[in-house]
Amino acid sequence: MIYEISLKTNGRTQFIDITRQVDSVVVQSGVKEGICVIYVPHTTAGVIINENADPSVKTDIKNHLEELVPWNKPYEHAEGNASAHIKSSIVGVSQTLIIENGKLVLGTWQGIFFCEFDGPRTRRVYVKVMRG
Ligand code: ZN
Repeated sequence: MIYEISLKTNGRTQFIDITRQVDSVVVQSGVKEGICVIYVPHTTAGVIINENADPSVKTDIKNHLEELVPWNKPYEHAEGNASAHIKSSIVGVSQTLIIENGKLVLGTWQGIFFCEFDGPRTRRVYVKVMRG
């Protein structure tokens, strides 16, 4: 079974903490020991695991990606959002987590963030939980 998390983003670039939603999927699944795969089925979005304590970390990641891949450059892609496609490719569209004792194994300061690179849009995140 695949669980789906729906999100509405409200800026061109926005990182949304989805740790609690993913956690609740794991609880709903009833799996105590296993693997959780998070998958973003979009070409201009992604998912990262990083610090959720100090919000400036998110800001630094967003700003640095913008410096690496500026929006306004003469790209080939005619839709005008090549920067978002490239950022999605850099951060990736999936993460794999370990489930132990019915909980996601995450470090003290780690959270799971959906990354919007071409918003605002309605987005989906798929979560698959496997026993094992
Ligand atoms: Zn495009």
